[in-house]
Amino acid sequence: MNPVKLLIVDDLRENLVALEALIRQEDRQIYKAFSGDEALALLLEHDFALAILDVQMPGMNGLDLAAMMRGTEKTRRIPIVFVSAGAQELNYAFKGYETGAVDFLYKPLDPHAVRSKVNVFVEIYRQRQQQEMLLAELRDTQAELQRSIEMRDDFVSMVSHELRTPLNTLYLQTQLRRRMASGVTLTPAQMTAMVERDEQQIRNMVRLIDDMLDVSRLRKGTLAIQPAAADLAVLVKRVIESYADQGANVGCPMEYSGPDTLPGIWDEFRIEQVVANLLTNAIRYGGGKPVKVTVEASGQEATVSVRDQGIGIAPQDQARIFEQFERAVGKQVAPGLGLGLFITRQIVEAHGGTISVESSAGEGSTFIVRLPRRTPSAPLS
Ligand code: ADP
Repeated sequence: MNPVKLLIVDDLRENLVALEALIRQEDRQIYKAFSGDEALALLLEHDFALAILDVQMPGMNGLDLAAMMRGTEKTRRIPIVFVSAGAQELNYAFKGYETGAVDFLYKPLDPHAVRSKVNVFVEIYRQRQQQEMLLAELRDTQAELQRSIEMRDDFVSMVSHELRTPLNTLYLQTQLRRRMASGVTLTPAQMTAMVERDEQQIRNMVRLIDDMLDVSRLRKGTLAIQPAAADLAVLVKRVIESYADQGANVGCPMEYSGPDTLPGIWDEFRIEQVVANLLTNAIRYGGGKPVKVTVEASGQEATVSVRDQGIGIAPQDQARIFEQFERAVGKQVAPGLGLGLFITRQIVEAHGGTISVESSAGEGSTFIVRLPRRTPSAPLS
């Protein structure tokens, strides 16, 4: 705890020395002033817990100084103890000094009275300081809570919106089926296209719900990885295969380059999720151009990079897109909650790896995942 500052004002050195000796303690800093002017200068510079003023001083006396203190915002509330020769001296003087505590000591000073008065004021000051600290903490907590509530409200409305879109599409499809039921016929090709659209919408919803579940697991610290023997090259090729149609439909064929096999110790399911997230992003933000996926091994490290030639990411957005709910572009480009890369990074880091992006706006992006070939057993935080 910071020492408490006390001011004592008296024109006589021996009085100051005697008073200081009475009230000195380790946790107190005592400032001495020989005149009202000197005291004012100190008062403006420091925050005092208490000022002890001799009433009788040449020039500005203790009462004048007190009046000035009460008239100045910074010093208005500092408690004052007047040291006076007798009660009469103070009779008339205190009208108008009601702001802030005032007390009196009479000469000759009674050491016990001096110490106990000063102790009381120091104690009050300390308690007020503590209250202010607690109050500041409370205000911070309240602001934090407010932010969380707003974030949750935003989240709920984003999720509702995101679920609404595929549900609307599915609803339209049911309307079509209703018309079919009443005699409208579709060709097998039209039928297949319809089912594929349905599947796509359902996949979108499943992905969204999975992401939300992962985020809530991450918050609770229960999204654990289970590393086991796996083959990164085989895994990546499998994910490419499963997104091939989706990519081809929007003009983003995916090209693999890398070894046929790259064994290591990873959580296969979670690394698939990482690759799938990067591929769906490359398809969604890839501007309808080919996507290149590369797998490499060097020493004890394996690297997967996904390169698209799409809209790119401006330098100021490159760090924040890995945080939850952060998006660099609006819904007009692609719908999304901004959770995918957040979850991706957590999974990669839980494997002891890193994820980074190289990009500039308009020129495509390359996401690079580096993984140790043997996952150190790390819990997902
Ligand atoms: P979402 O795609 O749902 O918004 P992500 O966490 O996967 O969530 O991505 C966060 C943001 O990063 C995206 O909104 C987008 O602005 C940007 N982004 C991600 N991948 C790419 C990419 N390949 N090209 C350009 N921007 C991207």
